[in-house]
Amino acid sequence: MSGALVCCDSGERFPLEMPIWRSPVTGGLLDLEWASRFPLEAIAARAMTMWRYREALPLVGEVVSLGETVTPLIEREVHGRRVLLKMDTRFASGSYKDRGAAVVVSHCARIGVRHIVEDSSGNAGAAFAMYASAAEPGIACDIYVPEWASPGKLIQVEVSGARLVRVPGTRADTSRAVWEAAQGSYYASHSWNPFFFHGTKTFAFEVCEQLGWRSPGAVVVPTGNGTLLLGCAIGFEELRRAGVIDRVPRLIAVQSRACMPLVVAMEKGSGACEPFNATATVAEGIAIANPVRGAQCLAAIRASDGCAVAVGEEEVVAALRWAVARGLFIEPTCASAIAAVARLREEDAADGEVVVAITGHGLKSAERVRQLVG
Ligand SMILES: *Cc1c(COP(=O)(O)O)cnc(C)c1O
Repeated sequence: MSGALVCCDSGERFPLEMPIWRSPVTGGLLDLEWASRFPLEAIAARAMTMWRYREALPLVGEVVSLGETVTPLIEREVHGRRVLLKMDTRFASGSYKDRGAAVVVSHCARIGVRHIVEDSSGNAGAAFAMYASAAEPGIACDIYVPEWASPGKLIQVEVSGARLVRVPGTRADTSRAVWEAAQGSYYASHSWNPFFFHGTKTFAFEVCEQLGWRSPGAVVVPTGNGTLLLGCAIGFEELRRAGVIDRVPRLIAVQSRACMPLVVAMEKGSGACEPFNATATVAEGIAIANPVRGAQCLAAIRASDGCAVAVGEEEVVAALRWAVARGLFIEPTCASAIAAVARLREEDAADGEVVVAITGHGLKSAERVRQLVG
């Protein structure tokens, strides 16, 4: 394969086939380098799935697929502004996490990893459990979740045959528990594992292709660990470097006021996040107090001339009401992105389309949606 895993601290390179998820040298983060190509004519002739960008995906051979689709971009007026909603609710598990899980699990199947562990507040776990069970031969999968995770997401994990480990306490307690388990296994972590981001980057490819191979002006992304935000940063930058688009859009990270380490770091002009003393939020999917790749998220937001926006609980609930009353049955977490449209600065919407990532399906937490909408 023509690529490498790269230690973020030392710059040392490792073969992509090595079953590692963090640097063997420093124990720190790994990034992934891949010489992405975009043969536009060939791409245009392929099926409408994320695999149409195969020269840009760090994979060889067969992929593990559940029938992914290029997700629709639909135009709506939100808070008086025309925006394009990117409906990533359409994936097999009901969230965009399938983009990342499909690539990680395909890679695992290829290099012979037979057991993975992952921690999640729900959606990443559901995606990994489903893709691991679709692999042939199957890949055993242990999913660690906080006790309070949405029942709908946990059902997806359990019925797929994955082992569900419920951890009392906070999201951080779940991370600690899986960290120990990961020492003897392969950590398919959506925040640590660099292959995940090379799946989520297909969001950017699809948006640009849907706009006629142009970049939008801004992309609004609900952000906790930043797996979609950084996927966008990687994807748009790869397209820019290949000369397909001429700029990376402004990346607008949306957080809940109850848990906003990136917003605080942006305000302070800081290059790293400090752990946030979080309180409960309806946007459970982005409640990450200390994002593993926080510094990378901050750098990506700044490089794109973007910003980080915090939304309050009432705003998220109001956006959820707005959405479900219009046939957009979304989960509460991603209503935060719709709420954030009201807070965009003039310049954010000045030069080109505003794309809003709709990251999860309402059926994931239907009971919760009913409670909140009333
Ligand atoms: C995972 C997730 C996000 C974004 O999560 P990150 O922690 O930034 O990777 C946004 N919305 C939904 C519905 C999610 O499941």
